[in-house]
Amino acid sequence: MKRKLTEIADWIQAAGQNLEDIFATGVSIDSRTASAGDLFIPFRGEQVNGHNYVEQAIKQGAVASLWMKDEPDPPANVPLIFVENPELALQEMARVYRGMLQCKVVGITGSNGKTSTKDLIASVLSPYFNVRKTEGNYNNELGLPLTILSLEEDTEFAILEMGMSGFGEISFLSKLAKPHFAVITNIGEAHMQDLGSRAGIAKAKFEIIDGLLEGGKLFYDGDEPLLQGLVDQLTAVQAVSFGYEKETMLSLEKIESGDEGSRFTVTGLLDGEFTIPVYGAHQVKNALAAILIANEAAISVDDIRGSLRQASLTDMRMQPVSVDNGALFINDAYNAAPTSMRAALAFMEDTELRKEKWVVLADMLELGDEEQVYHENLADELVAMKLEGILLYGPRMKWLHDKLQNGGMETRLLWSEKDYTPIVNALREYTGVDSIVLLKGSRGMALEYILEDLMGKG
Ligand code: ATP
Ligand code: MG
Repeated sequence: MKRKLTEIADWIQAAGQNLEDIFATGVSIDSRTASAGDLFIPFRGEQVNGHNYVEQAIKQGAVASLWMKDEPDPPANVPLIFVENPELALQEMARVYRGMLQCKVVGITGSNGKTSTKDLIASVLSPYFNVRKTEGNYNNELGLPLTILSLEEDTEFAILEMGMSGFGEISFLSKLAKPHFAVITNIGEAHMQDLGSRAGIAKAKFEIIDGLLEGGKLFYDGDEPLLQGLVDQLTAVQAVSFGYEKETMLSLEKIESGDEGSRFTVTGLLDGEFTIPVYGAHQVKNALAAILIANEAAISVDDIRGSLRQASLTDMRMQPVSVDNGALFINDAYNAAPTSMRAALAFMEDTELRKEKWVVLADMLELGDEEQVYHENLADELVAMKLEGILLYGPRMKWLHDKLQNGGMETRLLWSEKDYTPIVNALREYTGVDSIVLLKGSRGMALEYILEDLMGKG
């Protein structure tokens, strides 16, 4: 974005001071990371008042700042745009700027797999188009407008992640982003408390069609009956399903895991064999969305195959990591909720990559009143998997540990509430070239430290 401050003020119908002949080239909400050319946006929270950091942002190179009208003592020498509400102003700026952009927009929502799908889509489009994507997890009512405002005008495809925790949020984000293509990766159990049921979650994700441009297309997890039910009621929107089910419009035929990742074949809208450098049938499903979007962009099957093989995904999503003792770790420690937990365990159950299977599981957080049940419910599946070892970490995993202890398994079982040293020690002692080890837990549990410890970086 490179725009005159006077023009930006016009976008949001605001008055300013000292704006003449100054250009903004970006937007920042954090004075510490503000950079040259940025327009700074101060938020006033309970703890911190961003207006106190305007001068710091300017020192960092910001050229101007928004200023809330009821905030006293605006600095007279600084270029300022006066607004009622900085958050609304940010969103309005993004809305206007989006209207000026020529790029195609892909919007992605779903309970799990948004970031992974975003990375896969970017990987298949990048060799042929000027592609920009949401950085990290900037997927909410602040992150999305910031992302839109960061798009260069020569962007050809913008791949935008949209997250939510309640009704109305995805609708809002989608209307802001105005996607040509919308993707719903899956429906899980996260935010059950706010949305009441899985049906509620499906409805909330489905709001992504609210902002879909005319002639736009929805791509969705066709294995999810709740989504299929919503699609069946649609009249005006073209919807394309993908999944394992034969009836889906792009369906998976076969998946195998090898040292290079997951190899799979698809049939339906197009036929072909592909490989992605990460594991798990769920990641393969995310790749189906990427194949469909690439197909819309008229990229050939051969070219898609070439890009997917080398797709670069964000760390800690079913990521293979080899450690010195020869064991293969599957680092899925970015996060955990029941759906992604089951997906990861299903991979471990099916894989023949290594004979001796281990899991290191840490607490699943933010599950509300039912959290104990969600943890205990993993027991049956774990017993059926005939694992070499189950290493559990965190206070909530005690529930699962107790349940497993009564199961009379021959699997090595260990639980540690706060200290992961016993887990690291067990992995050092018992795993080796024949072992595959899944690491999975909520973000707050930071299981990747176990891996760092094992690799001598701890
Ligand atoms: P967040 O809501 O934190 O932004 P996200 O939707 O962006 O998450 P990812 O970061 O891609 O999702 O993945 C989160 C976790 O879910 C990882 O453990 C990943 O392996 C798993 N996962 C990815 N795709 C799927 C899927 N389609 N179904 C179930 N689990 C998935
Ligand atoms: Mg994400």
